[in-house]
Amino acid sequence: MTTTSIEARAQFAAAERLASIAVSPIMRIMSFCQQLRREGRDVISLAAGEPDFDTPDHIKEAAARAMRAGATKYTSHDGTPELKAAVRDKFRRDNGLEFTADEIAVSAGAKHLIFNAMMASLNPGDEVIMPVPYWISYVDIVRIAGGVAVLVPCAEEDGFRFTAAALERAITPRTRWIILNSPSNPTGAAYSAADYAPLLAVLLRHPHVWVMADDIYEHIVYDGFRFATPAAIEPGLRQRTLTINGVSKAYAMTGWRIGYAAGPRSLIGAMGVVQGQVTSCPSSVSQAAAVEALQGPQDSVHERCKAFELRRNLVVNALNRIPGIACRLPEGSFFAFARCSDLIGRTTPDGTVLDSDATFCEFLLRTAGVAVVPGSAFGAPGHFRLSYATSNAELERGCERIAKACLTLETYHDRRTNQHSAA
Ligand code: PLP
Repeated sequence: MTTTSIEARAQFAAAERLASIAVSPIMRIMSFCQQLRREGRDVISLAAGEPDFDTPDHIKEAAARAMRAGATKYTSHDGTPELKAAVRDKFRRDNGLEFTADEIAVSAGAKHLIFNAMMASLNPGDEVIMPVPYWISYVDIVRIAGGVAVLVPCAEEDGFRFTAAALERAITPRTRWIILNSPSNPTGAAYSAADYAPLLAVLLRHPHVWVMADDIYEHIVYDGFRFATPAAIEPGLRQRTLTINGVSKAYAMTGWRIGYAAGPRSLIGAMGVVQGQVTSCPSSVSQAAAVEALQGPQDSVHERCKAFELRRNLVVNALNRIPGIACRLPEGSFFAFARCSDLIGRTTPDGTVLDSDATFCEFLLRTAGVAVVPGSAFGAPGHFRLSYATSNAELERGCERIAKACLTLETYHDRRTNQHSAA
């Protein structure tokens, strides 16, 4: 080996599997917000994807009790028997689904389960169908695992949902999975049992395609919407469906890092092999807390859902009053996904032309001090995602600032008129 090639190898070079993956744009926006705050700016962040509520006290107390009782050691690699039993009861109670302990996996968050499932099942070039707009991690996890993300546009006119025809067209002999996420991050769109039915009929005809149902926002649905999950709607798919859920969103436990999944034991076993080498096991204390979350009083879940519904109404009404912005009423989650394409091409007071959703969001952050995430980060340019997981007062202030900032935008035509009149 020559001296230069040894020197070259001494420099860090990321593995090829990271070639098309970067730090999430949301993380970048969050750190820019922090920088602006350090500079003394009053920034309202409507970018984060976590409930602003605290974890309920009875859950924290269960964790403290577990610590004092010595639950501070490694647990079995894919979950304690107590948590698996609580998960089994949850699926029976909420979804009418029956699972045995070896059909259940517990991980350090739902994201970790998705990672384990993809690492355990994908061979290079295997395809995973997912909706656009998508949750960014789906794409990146599939790529890290060597798979190919097959992006299927889900139009706003179709409620940001897959159509059966688009799904059928996307399936190839290389398809391994389809990811269904309801309610969705980033759009808030949810599938009723009737919405799912034609898609599941397509999937029944393609027995090589496995179904990943990401139900993490199950308990955050509005207007009496009846949550539905594919394995319960179509028993014919149960033997190839992985149902993913967790405590992060329903119980405001994002930092505790506990997710759970249920599916065929062959897949659950393979996911356990991955997990055993990645983390050994999920946190013992967090698992004890999750048992209490799933088995203890559920009042806070319902109360918080009501609070989210009022916030959704506030935000969507406020956004739809702003000329140039249009926002569909989401059925669930705590995200509003608004269209801003009519504002692209307009000029800011300092003369910058807003040439994309990203420059629009940057303009909102710099001039209005409001952080939202550009739709292009989710594969849907011309939109932005606003998280309403924050107080009503902050939301009102945030929406007012967005409205004011948008009113300062000039069309190209305005600019010429002004220039002419000034001349
Ligand atoms: N799935 C979706 C759609 C999400 O939005 C998130 C978090 O933002 C997750 C899964 C992961 O949740 P966690 O890893 O906190 O359980």
